[in-house]
Amino acid sequence: MAITRRELITNIAKAGVPAALAVTACAPKLEAETVPVPSGAVGLLYDASICIGCKACVAACAEANDTSPDTRGDGLHQAPNDLNDRTRNIIKLYKPAGGGPSSYVKRQCMHCLDPACAAGCPFQALSKDPETGIVTWTEDKCIGCRYCTITCPYHIPRFQWAGYNPRVTKCELCNTRLDKGLKPGCTTVCPTGAVIFGPRPALLMEAKSRITKSPNRYYQNRVYGEVDNGGTQALYLSHVPFEKLGLPEIGPDSVPAKTLRWQRRLYQYFALPAVLYVGLVQVIRKSLTGHEVEAHERERATGLRAQR
Ligand code: SF4
Ligand code: SF4
Ligand code: SF4
Repeated sequence: MAITRRELITNIAKAGVPAALAVTACAPKLEAETVPVPSGAVGLLYDASICIGCKACVAACAEANDTSPDTRGDGLHQAPNDLNDRTRNIIKLYKPAGGGPSSYVKRQCMHCLDPACAAGCPFQALSKDPETGIVTWTEDKCIGCRYCTITCPYHIPRFQWAGYNPRVTKCELCNTRLDKGLKPGCTTVCPTGAVIFGPRPALLMEAKSRITKSPNRYYQNRVYGEVDNGGTQALYLSHVPFEKLGLPEIGPDSVPAKTLRWQRRLYQYFALPAVLYVGLVQVIRKSLTGHEVEAHERERATGLRAQR
């Protein structure tokens, strides 16, 4: 029988550490070390070199996900500074202080082939669809530990910080639209074709074709996400270094392959109590301000800032 996070937290509070140990000990076995590309993997191809920063995709994303427009910035316009509990897709601007080429960048979940958010979640609240590879969040499994925000190398999942039972928000590739035969909202409105949707192999082929046609246009003549971080289903082309767009040089090994699986072994075999996660909620709640400050510091350090 499924257990809701509220029930879980209540039970842990009642039973204390022994119950938490029991819950942890019942966690499923570890997955294989390597994760293959799902047979029906779909994704996005974003070409920063042709994005004009119109943010039509941001509005379309909010509409597609039925989220109320985030006007918390100035109370009037839908102009979020960053991904947040109402914003799954954001356009930012990289503009180097000393001059040189600038670039817009679209940020949303990368739908990693080996998602660190899922590897880091002690209760499998984040999972990767074995067919499409879409990474989704399941409310009933989430205990609100917010560990996925720490493990994601792209700083994607966001929380509703207010309330006792907060939601995790991130792009789920408009999977409910896909079920109806529709394309993801962001890909239906882009006036330049900077973001397109399709099967991952077709997107990869398209990206490589663009590189072949314009050999001096793209950074390192390569597609970010083909192999980076073990591969992702959101693929990027850029005319500026990927790192400037918030896409770190992780290398071909995924973050879970490098660092996280040993942690999960600890949780399973040494039963690091789940109750610690519940306690961490309070610590992490206090770190909200730090999270925001860190984002601003990243902006200052990289020159990549919110497109207002
Ligand atoms: S795929 Fe859907 S949820 Fe993801 S960024 Fe595009 S519109 Fe938003
Ligand atoms: S980008 Fe982050 S949230 Fe998205 S699948 Fe990868 S690890 Fe998970
Ligand atoms: S709709 Fe297309 S061109 Fe406009 S900001 Fe989004 S990706 Fe860029």
